Amino acid sequence: MPNYICVTCGTQYAQSIQPPEHCLICEDERQYIGMHGQKWTTLEELRPDHHNVIKPLEPNLTGIGSHPDFAIGQRALLVQSPKGNILWDCISLIDEPTVAAVRALGGISAIAISHPHYYSAMVEWSKAFDAPIYLHGDDRSWVMRQDPAIRYWDDDAKVLWDGITLVHCGGHFTGSTVLHWPAGSSGRGVLLTGDTIQVLPDRRYVSFMYSYPNLIPLPARAVRYIASAVELLPFNRIYGAWWEPVIEHDAKNAVMRSAKRYIAALEGIEIV
Ligand SMILES: [Zn+2]
Ligand SMILES: [Zn+2]
Repeated sequence: MPNYICVTCGTQYAQSIQPPEHCLICEDERQYIGMHGQKWTTLEELRPDHHNVIKPLEPNLTGIGSHPDFAIGQRALLVQSPKGNILWDCISLIDEPTVAAVRALGGISAIAISHPHYYSAMVEWSKAFDAPIYLHGDDRSWVMRQDPAIRYWDDDAKVLWDGITLVHCGGHFTGSTVLHWPAGSSGRGVLLTGDTIQVLPDRRYVSFMYSYPNLIPLPARAVRYIASAVELLPFNRIYGAWWEPVIEHDAKNAVMRSAKRYIAALEGIEIV
């Protein structure tokens, strides 16, 4: 029986003879159903005309994204670390060349995902590398393909190893998280943020939204919570959910001034 994948959001569902009637992720207010209606595919259908691009981003950090773009179009990040590599966020496509390339980089010891839009084909990735999947427990109702490899965590933070820590921020989803990688950016620290903290095209500001495609903002208290969750972490750089853009330097100040600007806008204070 196939595991159908939603064409609009890239989420892979539990096995079923027929495609599911609904995609709960796309029917949620944060997403949308594609203009041609609900469409489904499978990994077998995706593989002939898609492949994954695997690109080094800085020492011990590699991006993995599909070409041509599929669904939301995010790219995953592989953090290489002495005690084991971590795949941050995930994509729908996995194939033999990808598995071989990731094995050559040391494989995957754990998968951690920022929020449900990037759960994608996490169970396939987990099975290929025999890796547990760490998800925040507040988002457990959004898991469309259950698996014993999924480990929920419920606190403010979960330390994996080598100081690599998953930090709960909430906002976009109740369980939205970021990953803090202290060894990144030559030891000055890196945050991998998915959609929890969105890097903007000017590379000086970030944003925070309940829904990105539907342009629904977050309340001020949620923005304050996100900023306070990362304020004490040492980090210099942020990688968001796509290949570009990246905040290369002084990223913590970028988050703090962005939160201030956002809250000022919500409160009707003139920004300029
Ligand atoms: Zn969907
Ligand atoms: Zn999202």
